[in-house]
Amino acid sequence: MIREVDALPERRSSESVVVIGAGMAGLCAAYELRRSGCEVTVLEARRTAGGRVRTRRDFPGALYVEEGATRFPVVHHYTMHYLREFGLPLIPFDRPDMGHTLRIIGHDLESHPWGQDAWPDELPLHADERALDLEGLHARYVTPLLDEIGDPLSPGWPGELLRERFDSVGYADLLRSRGASEGAIRALALGFHVGEGPNSLSALWWLECMALDAGPRGKVKVEGGNDRLAEAFAARLGDRIRFGRAVRRIVQDPTGISVHAESLAGTEVLRADRVVCALPVPLVLDVVFEPELPPLRREALQSVPYASLSRVALQCRRRFWLDQGRPGFEDTDEEVAEVWDLSVGEPGDRGVLVAYSGGNEARRVTAMTGEERVAYTARRLESLLPGLLDHLEGGVSRCWDAEPWARGGGAWFRTGQSGLRDVIAAPLGRIHFAGEATSPWAGWVQGALDSARRATAEILEASV
Ligand SMILES: Cc1cc2nc3c(=O)[nH]c(=O)nc-3n(C[C@H](O)[C@H](O)[C@H](O)COP(=O)(O)OP(=O)(O)OC[C@H]3O[C@@H](n4cnc5c(N)ncnc54)[C@H](O)[C@@H]3O)c2cc1C
Repeated sequence: MIREVDALPERRSSESVVVIGAGMAGLCAAYELRRSGCEVTVLEARRTAGGRVRTRRDFPGALYVEEGATRFPVVHHYTMHYLREFGLPLIPFDRPDMGHTLRIIGHDLESHPWGQDAWPDELPLHADERALDLEGLHARYVTPLLDEIGDPLSPGWPGELLRERFDSVGYADLLRSRGASEGAIRALALGFHVGEGPNSLSALWWLECMALDAGPRGKVKVEGGNDRLAEAFAARLGDRIRFGRAVRRIVQDPTGISVHAESLAGTEVLRADRVVCALPVPLVLDVVFEPELPPLRREALQSVPYASLSRVALQCRRRFWLDQGRPGFEDTDEEVAEVWDLSVGEPGDRGVLVAYSGGNEARRVTAMTGEERVAYTARRLESLLPGLLDHLEGGVSRCWDAEPWARGGGAWFRTGQSGLRDVIAAPLGRIHFAGEATSPWAGWVQGALDSARRATAEILEASV
């Protein structure tokens, strides 16, 4: 099922709004508020818009690399809505006809839409699981859980009962309690890079993520680079975006808000009726709020974990993996959790493979120099795709823990934490909070856009 885009309140407002952050959440909120008549100013610390949607074009050769958001599931209705609204050309992200390679306990299995190689004998599966491929394991263990939790967007969801049953248990423990063997749990975690592994996640939160992404499986990307989506928003906002402005202080009084921003020219203070704070959670905590954030709110912000994520992209002089009949997409149980071929749909012979890791492995890569990251990743990928070293031309990396204006890849929720989202998303007087962490689609552009529309609706509904 692909959901319908719900309409924003049909209301005009002439309020002045300062939007903090020109990532996808801030851009979208500013765009929609402006369309509803608001006077909008966007303050962005960096020199460019897009935040964690970042396309790198200084890569050797003609190709480009996505350092953040890379693929958009077609079920992400808000993302698809804006991609269509701006007329951006889309191309498939992967090769559905070739499937993926699964690397599990050192064995490579081809997984195609029409079937999968048998699991290795050493994988500790129950006898009756052995005949099931990954889809089959999913259908046996995950689908019934998704049925049990229902539609996360239904009113009142999740309710006390679901929270009691699923929030304080880790995802892997929940699968275990439903009879999954250790081998099945390992298989179902192939390619996993969220949080600190499957058992660190609140099972309720992770089931919610999966339920929201259920439906047609296709994924697309923007031809020429995903930052074209950010550019499309930014072009429509023009000089309403002020770059190089880092917000340090937000002072709220009964008649409005003063926003203090630092730039090379000094500190400037903007006065507005309302603020949309569209910053990543670790950056919200750096801002001085007057009056202070309520203690419960600060505690919630402090406890939301941000994922360590690393990306190392390797350029190869030809797409040698295709000669070997390999799709260039690998889901593994090793340090490099996922490998993607970023050159699908791009002209020429050259190819770019990107290695994607989370948790401990991402932190290990973050601690290396740029050259070390490339050399280390090339050695890892040689073991997955032999021939890589012979074809390697160069590489680049991006480690999100080390990005000063993000300080992490995206929000996730530990066991017992799924209720925190509502705490950090609630408005505080004239301050409205957006950003992927405040949406059920945390960790996706869809989450940033959803949160922007929610904050826009809050402002329009509150306007007199
Ligand atoms: C490695 C990685 C892979 C991803 N893959 C995908 C994917 O394949 N598909 C997908 O849909 N999503 C993906 N995402 C998630 C997606 O990129 C994010 O969810 C989304 O871009 C977040 O948007 P945002 O506006 O909430 O935050 P951000 O993009 O972080 O925007 C916040 C903005 O605030 C600015 N800022 C910070 N502090 C201040 C301050 N004090 N004053 C002013 N400005 C400030 C920042 O510079 C930034 O521009 C990925 C993310 C990462 C990191």
